This record gives sequence, C-alpha cells and structure tokens, in this order.
Amino acid sequence: MINLLDLTRTELETFCTQELGLPRFRAEQLWQWMWQKGVADFDAMTNIAKPLREALKEKCEVRWPEIEKTQVSEDGTTKFLFRMQDGKRIESVIIPMHDRYSQCLSTQAGCAMGCTFCNTGLMGFERNLTHGEILGQVLAARKHLEDNDLPPLKNLVFMGMGEPLLNLDTLLRVLGTLPDTKGLNISWRRSMVSTVGFPDQLRTLGDSEMALPAISLHAPNQALREQIMPKAARFHIDDLVAALRAYPMRPRERITIEYLLLGGVNDRPEHARELATLLSGLRCKVNLISYNATEDMPYHAPSREDAEAFQNILKQKGMTAFIRRSMGADIAAACGQLKADQAK
Ligand code: SF4
Repeated sequence: MINLLDLTRTELETFCTQELGLPRFRAEQLWQWMWQKGVADFDAMTNIAKPLREALKEKCEVRWPEIEKTQVSEDGTTKFLFRMQDGKRIESVIIPMHDRYSQCLSTQAGCAMGCTFCNTGLMGFERNLTHGEILGQVLAARKHLEDNDLPPLKNLVFMGMGEPLLNLDTLLRVLGTLPDTKGLNISWRRSMVSTVGFPDQLRTLGDSEMALPAISLHAPNQALREQIMPKAARFHIDDLVAALRAYPMRPRERITIEYLLLGGVNDRPEHARELATLLSGLRCKVNLISYNATEDMPYHAPSREDAEAFQNILKQKGMTAFIRRSMGADIAAACGQLKADQAK
C-alpha cells in the first residue's frame, strides 16, 4: 500500500489523476490535509466525500513514523526515537532557540561513513529513508510542539543519522517539498544540509540552489582527516575545499564549517593555524563544537582553554568562528551521539 507522504506534490497529482482517476484539485486537498494540517486519517478530511475516502483507504495510506520514545533534556532539547514500518529505528532531535525550535533530521537508518567519533557510524548502514520518513519526523515534531504549547519549528538541519548526500535523490525531493505554502511552508533559507562533503554531489546540491551545506570537516589536513574520518577522506581535502570555493552562493550567504574539537587530537594551536590557511578566502563561518565523551569511543573532550585558544587563532586570522554549546548531552542527543539502539 502506497504511503502518500512518500510522494512529492507533482507525484501526488500524477497518482491522483492517473491511478485514481481523480481531478487535480483532489491532490491539492489531500496535500493540504497531510502537510499543512498534519492530518493522517482520511475520515478527518472533511471536504472529501465519504465514498472517495473509502476508495482512498483501499489503495493508500498516510503513515507517520511512530514515536517509540521521547526524552527531554534539562536544556529543553528533545530527542525522539522513531520506529519505521519495517522496524528500523532512527532518532531526531529538536532544539529550543529562544522563540523557535530547530530540528535535526535523519536521512538514513545507520550510516556507512564510519566516522571514528560517531555512534551512528558504529551502527553501520541499514538503509536510506524515504521522502515520507524524513519529513514525517518534521510532522511528528511539529505536532509535539503544538500539543505542548511550545514555540514553532522554524529551522531544519539535515544533521542527524546518516550522510544526506548519499541519499541525494530523496534529499532533493524533500528540499523541493519544504517551501510549499500549502504544505510545510519552511523556507530553504532556514534549511542546512550537513555532509562530510563529496565534491560531485556538492555540485549537484549547489546547482539545485535549494540549500547551503554545513561541512563536517573536523581536521585541517588530509592525514588527520584520514585518521578521524577514513571513509570521508577518500576524497582529498583539497578537492573538497575546491568544491566549496565553487559553491554558488547569494551575496550574504556563507558555508558553515563544522569542526568537532577532540581533546589532544585536532585541537592544538598548529591545527587552528593550518585550518585558517586551508580555508583562507572561502566565504565561511566555523562552528567549533566540543566533543562529548561517550562510552566506547577513544576520544575525550577538549579543555575550555584549548577551545578558546583555537577560536582566538581563527579570529586573529580574520575568520568568523563560534564555539557552539552542545545541546542535549545528558540525553545523548548531541552531535555524534545518536545511535537508536535496536534493543531499546
Ligand atoms: S558523523 Fe555523520 S557521516 Fe560520519 S558516521 Fe556519523 S552520521 Fe555518518
């Protein structure tokens, strides 16, 4: 049975007109119920006549990922454990930011990249998520916020489990769905795709003009990147930076560089100087994130002094650099901590 959330608006129109023999306006009605009003039950779609609702139930469904567990951090960060129809589990996190929330979305169950600091990487790759499974995380989070009288969801980052550019076709369909004013109505300017950075796929994303990338760089040179992120480093760091220099951007846009500070590994002053040289002239801002020590991982957090010294060197070199507070560490919702234990 087809899940209508897996279809883009154009695909839904084709399905309604060609498979169901319905006029085009029915697709628009369905679309609004599903994406704008967050309704999954055909019987609640009151402007659709009962016989048609019955016919729809025979051929299709609107299935959200099921929330299996919700954990709320001291800082308000909330982590959802979702169960897909086939039993695969993924996690998504919503983060409070003053008058709004930002959501970190997963694009794959597990991840093939195996970055050595990341719990998701330890899981290995299970499968790509579908259009409906990725955006179903948004529907569920939006409902949670509404039900609890919390500020609205405004920003999306594709930074949860998985490597978004290895699920690129679906990612582009998802990005195409976001800004629909009769649907989710989330601007591309409020969406960011976090990736280890594959030069070819970055070009495709840039050509789409639908999102800016946040690059998980985490090292200032090829040798250290090979040690920390061996699979990502199959593409040479110089080719990655060249692809970033060519990325199409509007006048005030910048690429985000994510740099996870691993105590004693990549947080030395010489690494900061090398990073400044590598990124010299690139329109970017650097987010420095202190690693959260977790079980089974060979790394420890950097000291506050080392993190500040790293930031100061970048600033002295004329770069924009922030130290980002890791949110939700107490519920294992911070960067690199998502793992969706299958045994939970
Ligand atoms: S950091 Fe991202 S790309 Fe690397 S293993 Fe984790 S989820 Fe995959």
